[in-house]
Amino acid sequence: MQIKEGGVDLDYTGTQVNYYFVCKRKLWLFSHGLEEEAESDIVHLGKLLHEHSYQRELKEVQIGRIKIDFIQGKGEIHEIKRSRKIEKAHVYQLLYYQYYLKNYAGLNVKGMLNYPLVRKRVEVNLDEEKESELKSILNDIDKIIHQEKPPEAVWISYCKTCAYRGLCWG
Ligand code: SF4
Repeated sequence: MQIKEGGVDLDYTGTQVNYYFVCKRKLWLFSHGLEEEAESDIVHLGKLLHEHSYQRELKEVQIGRIKIDFIQGKGEIHEIKRSRKIEKAHVYQLLYYQYYLKNYAGLNVKGMLNYPLVRKRVEVNLDEEKESELKSILNDIDKIIHQEKPPEAVWISYCKTCAYRGLCWG
């Protein structure tokens, strides 16, 4: 499904928005179907966390292109994350969910990041400034994933645990 809002395509997943902040090359590789995440121990740990936390909530809710970890009450969406190392990516992933729900379904929802391993919660709220920033991020994502080749690999500390490490660094 292709949905346009103010010239911005809403046909992205939260993972793509997340990877935009982690590594532009990862975003390109993932968007071109080079999916290696299933083999990663870290992703496996993330899935276990999802299965064993927050048992009583409505979990893994797919709405259009986005998949929300769980919904609490009538209007609070939650994401569960393992560590706060890439918190900015988590924040923008959740902001994108709020933006998506607003433009896709006319829903204004609250957002909460959950870090059960360190017992932390971070509230995330979409405002006008963040919304306009997101539009420009989505345009940028569109440009990156439509490049013929992936951006060059640049070593960052995240590479150590990235599922694409073998592809980038041999
Ligand atoms: S290994 Fe590093 S450079 Fe390659 S996709 Fe992952 S984070 Fe990006």
